Amino acid sequence: MCHKNQDAFFIPSVAEETIRKEKEKARALRKTRWWQRRVAVGVCHYCHRIVDPEDLTMDHVVPLIRGGRSTRGNTVPACKTCNNRKKYLLPVEWDDYLHHTLRESTSDRNTPDGELEGH
Ligand SMILES: [Zn+2]
Repeated sequence: MCHKNQDAFFIPSVAEETIRKEKEKARALRKTRWWQRRVAVGVCHYCHRIVDPEDLTMDHVVPLIRGGRSTRGNTVPACKTCNNRKKYLLPVEWDDYLHHTLRESTSDRNTPDGELEGH
């Protein structure tokens, strides 16, 4: 049944079968306590916005088609906005988006440095 990577295939893309398996793993991962807890926190991994746990989806940091796997290290809770953007943006554009959102959310909080030097 499940045979190993076929070296005969030199195609850089991941086999459909692998993706199907990884999706299955992701589904199982979603049922774990570990994941439930992450979602319960209700924070999007990318934009750091507070999101209703129901609106958080599981996102693969490295997409399956690019060789990412359904592991704890590669899956993060993401809001639908980020998830959709990630899907449709080029990696470069996505990086750009992240920089913007993160800068916005940190500038909101203002510099903690100022407080330290205040006296
Ligand atoms: Zn988000």
